[in-house]
Amino acid sequence: MKVLITGGAGFIGSHLAESLLSEGEEVKIIDDLSTGSMRNIDHLKDNKRLDVIIDSVMNEKTMEGLVLWADYIYHLAAAVGVRLIIEQPIKTIETNIKGTEIVLKLASKYKKKTLIASTSEVYGKHIEHILSEKDNMVYGPTTNSRWSYACSKAIDEFLALAYFKKYKLPVIIVRFFNTVGPRQTGQYGMVIPTFVKQALLGQPITVYGDGKQSRSFTYVGDVVGGIIRLMNHPQAIGEIFNIGNEEETTIYQLAKKVKEMTGSKSEIVYIPYKDAYEEGFEDMQRRSPDVSKITSFVDYKPKVDLDEILKSVIEYYKEELSKEEKRT
Ligand code: UDP
Repeated sequence: MKVLITGGAGFIGSHLAESLLSEGEEVKIIDDLSTGSMRNIDHLKDNKRLDVIIDSVMNEKTMEGLVLWADYIYHLAAAVGVRLIIEQPIKTIETNIKGTEIVLKLASKYKKKTLIASTSEVYGKHIEHILSEKDNMVYGPTTNSRWSYACSKAIDEFLALAYFKKYKLPVIIVRFFNTVGPRQTGQYGMVIPTFVKQALLGQPITVYGDGKQSRSFTYVGDVVGGIIRLMNHPQAIGEIFNIGNEEETTIYQLAKKVKEMTGSKSEIVYIPYKDAYEEGFEDMQRRSPDVSKITSFVDYKPKVDLDEILKSVIEYYKEELSKEEKRT
């Protein structure tokens, strides 16, 4: 099979490319390296079945050739990371909406099966229960730029479903819940790489808010296996799936675990949200997926728990930091 991955030099995209190549697929990656990095795919560069195109998904001409070539498209290119969204709101909205618009238009023109990466952010600020695909979206005001990310991805979902209904485009939507693992960068705010780096460097571990907010972290390898199986499942077309791990942890517990597992002397400090992000910032108090839908379609069961995830990320950052040290 010929597989196009948009955002393939990103964290999830690079793991997906690796997995598809190991299964013998031909892979083309398009990535503008805005948040992705050639280092993420460095270990794959000698594979003859991989082709890397450094360009934006918003370049319609380039995209047309790639979509025409592909059998399957995984559309992962997007602006991600709460910090990036707050610092670059225009880019977030434009990349997420225009990029997906182009992918869907071309995929529809050439009738190519497409998986759209969405996010658990689309649910907004629920607190009361585990989230399932038919739950409402609950957002704050437009003056809080965080919600622009949720809204932009919600528009992507609406558009994908509209293409499915109107033009029978074979499309699958997947909502990722805090996917983590090696190669994820803390640069755009993600909590696990941030805490691990802080702990390894002996810097304060920065818990935002009161640390009682919780998340469910999913290992990237489990996510990649799940989306590949969904792509190969004929009945998944036209459907939306949560993909995540039901195991929940508070951010304070996470900070403690990282400190213990790294043997770090870092202190755990609390930073008010207004200092961490911006005045009026709203966090999700809880975010955990109901994964019964995906498990009823494909063989999906997260195998890597939080301890193993943290072990792999700690290993990764130890190596990265020692490489950085040698360079300086
Ligand atoms: N967080 C934190 N310290 C950090 C980075 C993030 O306490 O240095 C918190 C953040 O406020 C949120 C949780 O960790 O409650 C997860 O943040 P992340 O940006 O990784 O993902 P989100 O679930 O917010 O998309």
